[in-house]
Amino acid sequence: MDIKKLDNMQDLVSLCKRRGFIFQSSEIYGGLGSCWDYGPLGVELKNNIKDSWWKAMTYREEVEGVDASILMHPQVWKASGHVDGFSDPLVDCKECKSRFRADKIDLDAPCPSCKAEDSFTEPRDFNLMFETTMGPVKDSGSTVYLRPETAQGIFTNFLNVQSTMRKKLPFGIAQIGKAFRNEITPGNFIFRTREFEQMEMQYFIKPGTQDEAMKKWKEIRWQWHLDQGLDEDKLRWHDHGSELAHYADAAFDIEYHFPIGWDEMEGIHSRTDFDLGRHAEHSGKNLNYVDQADGNKKYIPYVLETSVGCDRHLLAILCNAYRVENPETKEERVVMGFKPKMAPIKVAIMPLMKKPELETHARSILEDLQKNYKCEYDVAGSIGKRYRRQDEIGTPYCITVDYDTLEDNAVTVRDRDSMAQERVKISEIRQYILNKFGF
Ligand code: ATP
Repeated sequence: MDIKKLDNMQDLVSLCKRRGFIFQSSEIYGGLGSCWDYGPLGVELKNNIKDSWWKAMTYREEVEGVDASILMHPQVWKASGHVDGFSDPLVDCKECKSRFRADKIDLDAPCPSCKAEDSFTEPRDFNLMFETTMGPVKDSGSTVYLRPETAQGIFTNFLNVQSTMRKKLPFGIAQIGKAFRNEITPGNFIFRTREFEQMEMQYFIKPGTQDEAMKKWKEIRWQWHLDQGLDEDKLRWHDHGSELAHYADAAFDIEYHFPIGWDEMEGIHSRTDFDLGRHAEHSGKNLNYVDQADGNKKYIPYVLETSVGCDRHLLAILCNAYRVENPETKEERVVMGFKPKMAPIKVAIMPLMKKPELETHARSILEDLQKNYKCEYDVAGSIGKRYRRQDEIGTPYCITVDYDTLEDNAVTVRDRDSMAQERVKISEIRQYILNKFGF
């Protein structure tokens, strides 16, 4: 069979809009730059991703979860280095006024927008944090920031979690939440946006054990992406090598091969005692860990961080799932080949015709299955068209109630990938689906 995989973002953007995955934010007002809304199918997919990450990371003895507030004490961002250093080098084109990140373009080349020569200003630092004010008086003392990463809510809760949960090193704290960055050049659909969600874990360890921790989490995180259904040949490691941030002693990214090329999806960074050390200094609080296993030695733990963008991973899942079978022929079919646990709709239930005797059966199957699974009920159009609609949103199984059902109390179950059809007794349908999914 001839299969075409995704080779441009536009095909995906239009499928996402057409089928209710992702819409432009504030679309009826013309949209808002690089902000996107997840529609009915998108939010299901996103929840599936978050649920899978949460279980993989926190359903283990050594990792606990938190959900910290987005607004934090402004001193947090001073201590973390974000107020002084969280910036990208910005250049303007003097001709067309377009703005670029100096590290993402060739400054000796013509402007990518208007092609003018020698038109760039000198690079200047542009802080990526969004500022707002807190309380009724708007003065400089009321400035707070929308967090540019979730990690700081973990560091500031290190003592709370360690003491309340009686944790011994090594242990981790995980969090999923929104982050905001006033990116200079956002774009490529949901790849780089100004509001996004991160799934981060900080793993607190004894200094000197960072290599071991890095090895362990590199393996776990790589495997997670595979378990999510991403093809291994579309994943690769990028070693930051000598280009490390000043506080890090090792850093690896997991990159995915998007239609725009290879780019970062997740970072796994060994951050030494930089973060807790800075917070101890700025807050005046003692953030030492007393190591009972090592003669009550006191030290600031080192940190191994895993940080993946939920939206960026979701984009990888969408890109990876998209395929067109037999393109430009009569048999053409667009399929989102999600793994069942990622599929927004798990089962579609379809009475062959809009007839009460068929619908009674179909509705009772729907009511039974939707206690566990997100289902869709579809009575409109020919069965062939309905199957194609479900293929395009990645529904693993379609159940059809037809006139034979009235005789044999059985239904036809159709598999998305093989298109094979099987007759299954209504009384066995729940178990059948459970066996197929394993959940
Ligand atoms: P970049 O160099 O691309 O700006 P970064 O190295 O600053 O990214 P991190 O601070 O390490 O990114 O963030 C961790 C993860 O959060 C990234 O791997 C990515 O998946 C996600 N992420 C970061 N910025 C954005 C953004 N603007 N939009 C969507 N996801 C993002």
